[in-house]
Amino acid sequence: MIKFNHLKGVLILKPTVIVANRIEKPALKKLESHFNVTYFTGLEDLKDPDFLKDLKIAKGLIGLFIEIDAEFLDLAPNLTIISTISVGYNHLDIEELTKRGIMATHTPDILNDTVADTMIALMLAAARKIPELDRYVKNNEWTGLIPTELYGEDVHHKTLGIIGMGRIGHVIAQRANKGFDMPILYNSRTRKAEAEERFNAKHLELDDLLKQSDYIILIAPLTKETEGMIGKREFDLMKETAIFINGSRGATIVESELIEALKNTKIKAAGLDVYNHEPVEVDNPLLKMDNVVTLPHIGSSTLATELAMSMHATEDLIKGLTGEEPESLINKETYK
Ligand code: NAP
Repeated sequence: MIKFNHLKGVLILKPTVIVANRIEKPALKKLESHFNVTYFTGLEDLKDPDFLKDLKIAKGLIGLFIEIDAEFLDLAPNLTIISTISVGYNHLDIEELTKRGIMATHTPDILNDTVADTMIALMLAAARKIPELDRYVKNNEWTGLIPTELYGEDVHHKTLGIIGMGRIGHVIAQRANKGFDMPILYNSRTRKAEAEERFNAKHLELDDLLKQSDYIILIAPLTKETEGMIGKREFDLMKETAIFINGSRGATIVESELIEALKNTKIKAAGLDVYNHEPVEVDNPLLKMDNVVTLPHIGSSTLATELAMSMHATEDLIKGLTGEEPESLINKETYK
């Protein structure tokens, strides 16, 4: 879009930026003051000649969960920066972006507390059967003594195993250890002195963590290494009373094998925020299981945190397009 600047009497060409899927309104306003904004709402747009024209000249792309690979990048030869409104960036081909000199940014730390709250909520909900009891009361089934099958499990003083003791893992450990007196076991590629000092957390090999934990929270990123890291073998190692929570990405577990483990009472229950296919398919057996608590990938989705993430991603995009180094740059070698 060409704008005429009356004060200076010159023509100013605003760079084009693509907004993918959604961004909070104040962040959008800020973007619109700097850029010519075009919206990407799904793969169908890639058949629209007007959108393709904008994509071809776009300098930046910002948004949520859009799969960026070489094929997509071929359509956007002028991109300088991609700013994802999430901490996880498994949907971006970082190697390909780096090869093309395109900066990639994400939103670490801002969401740690909110995601940790969600993980604790899932753990408590699965342990104490909160959704099932909610349905019981609302369906007017509470007419006398509550059947003991609806009694849950204690969380306090039980052992929590955290797979992925990173930024979010530490905050989960703090809540669980300081709030619920839970001993903490953890697995990550490297040892974490802070977690060991503050929460007396013990670093274990994955198999040992699975055997010893009452609750297991998976919060590692989806990478080639972690894809399918929890499947039949791992569920078999868990206690029959174990409650498993996945807050990472759907593909870090073999979902069909989780379903089998739950059906065959290899583990007691699960709490899930993420799935192999999102939105989850209507016929997914997990949706019919009373011992599974399901959330629609809302780990970081409070109004305040989503807004803070959108603003951070916007500020980093602006920095990237005005020659400053973005704060949360993933592929640092692209900043010249
Ligand atoms: P982070 O600070 O990078 O921490 C990730 C942790 O995972 C690190 O401790 C890392 O260990 C560990 N890890 C990596 N590969 C591993 C492996 N093969 N085995 C065991 N541990 C491994 O990331 P974060 O900010 O905490 O976020 C973690 C992930 O949570 C994100 O990538 C995203 O997928 C997910 N997430 C989900 C939601 C949601 O809405 N459900 C929201 C936010 C984040 P080292 O430090 O030793 O490398």
